[in-house]
Amino acid sequence: KGKTHIVMIRARIPGGNMTAEQFLGILDLSEQYGNGAMRLTTRQGIQLHYIPKGNTKEVVKGINDTMLTTLAACGDVNRNVMACPAPFKDQPHAAIQKLAYEMAEHFRPKTTAYHELWLTDGEGNNHNATEEFVPVEEPIYGTHYLPRKFKMAIALPDDNCIDVYANDLGLIADVQEGQIVGYNMLVGGGMGRTPAAEKTFPAVGKKLCYVTPEQVIPVAEAVVKVQRDFGNRSDRKVARLKYLIHNWGLDAFRAKVEEYYGQPLTPPNSVDVKGVEDHVGWFEQGDGKLFVGINIECGRVRDTSEVQVKTGLRAIIEKYRMPVRATALQGLILCDIDPADRADITAMLKQYGLKSAEELTILRRFAIACPALPTCGLSLTESERVLPGVIDQLDIEMARLGLQSEKISVHMTGCNNGCARPYTPDIGFVGRSLGKYTMFVGGNPEGSRLAFMYEDYVPLEKLVPTLVPLLTGYKADRMPGEGFGDYCVRLGIEGLKELATQVAV
Ligand code: SF4
Repeated sequence: KGKTHIVMIRARIPGGNMTAEQFLGILDLSEQYGNGAMRLTTRQGIQLHYIPKGNTKEVVKGINDTMLTTLAACGDVNRNVMACPAPFKDQPHAAIQKLAYEMAEHFRPKTTAYHELWLTDGEGNNHNATEEFVPVEEPIYGTHYLPRKFKMAIALPDDNCIDVYANDLGLIADVQEGQIVGYNMLVGGGMGRTPAAEKTFPAVGKKLCYVTPEQVIPVAEAVVKVQRDFGNRSDRKVARLKYLIHNWGLDAFRAKVEEYYGQPLTPPNSVDVKGVEDHVGWFEQGDGKLFVGINIECGRVRDTSEVQVKTGLRAIIEKYRMPVRATALQGLILCDIDPADRADITAMLKQYGLKSAEELTILRRFAIACPALPTCGLSLTESERVLPGVIDQLDIEMARLGLQSEKISVHMTGCNNGCARPYTPDIGFVGRSLGKYTMFVGGNPEGSRLAFMYEDYVPLEKLVPTLVPLLTGYKADRMPGEGFGDYCVRLGIEGLKELATQVAV
């Protein structure tokens, strides 16, 4: 008997923006072919797990039938382009959603092979027995594509909900008098590291230049092409853009981008991210309609004995057919709601156990995890399945210390690849070996600073006890307005270790 193989299939969704039919269509595919659950990712995409390998084509085609795609959701190309999903009807929110779509299209591979392989019955348009094969020209990726995956994201300065600093290329909008007039372009962010390889490291993006809205795509294309031509193709561990910039220095990298772009670049200005929202709760969109953001624990759209996420979302979206948007914190926004329908939708959310913003602690609202075991072949530890329990314990300690209203971000991953961006929040747990984690502290909810390693090989059951002395010290000695990550940076590793010896757990 042969083995049964399963695959994970990911849909690329720029800005997390979907119609009701697209969301429901992918949900149907998860039930028809997968394990009946779908997962909202940390990059505004959707993953279907447990798809039998033999059904790959049906699922890929099914996703394309909804007018979404899996093309460039993976691979050594530009991945899903992220943008703040809040559907406020102002120019900045609308502009970055539109730009995310335009960038996704511009950097989409132009190959016809995807369609030939997945969307036809096997007869390609471009090559058959009687015609000579003529490869489609890839104007950006060339014949060998990129050395490694490439990620892009667009943020607004008061809301870095998509973690712009964690991307190979990020844009922070410069908003003046309610209009976007340009962007600071960041380059070289990326989360992955290999503990055994000192040459690897996580990095936050560096400010490369300032671009007008018209310059965004041509300058981004120059950046991608420089990485294409000079990124490391002999060692995948150090192939991301961050290593090229580290090796060359930012000035030399900028000079090469200018050469590819054909003009000098404008220096960046002081615009930066200074806030972060999860978009959970009810909000006015600005056009008379409402939206409601829903926290979905670890992004898993399924039913459990406590909460019927899948049945509840299906019931509401089938009834009202509203557009939806995936957030980078693995939540879902239901858009364009008539105020007259708010009471009914609120009742339906309650009926299915989906909690309101007020019923969730801030800690839980800003906590995310990667899938890890059992579906990710690279995972060393649990992540998604244990984070809720860790948050339960932390909630108790936070309440005991009177810290429950503090915005403290916690990200967990099952390995060092860092798919849930564990190196930039206040607290990061990174799977290290069976049941043990590396603990990072010192980032911030805005994701604009790297955390530092506090302790290695911490057993799962010791994660919260290890944090309690730090939280106790924070409660006692924090400065006005100081975040937990800021406090950890102020004390530094030695100060925190000293604190841990003083504060009884
Ligand atoms: Fe898998 Fe590691 Fe990514 Fe988690 S961080 S999804 S374990 S590769």
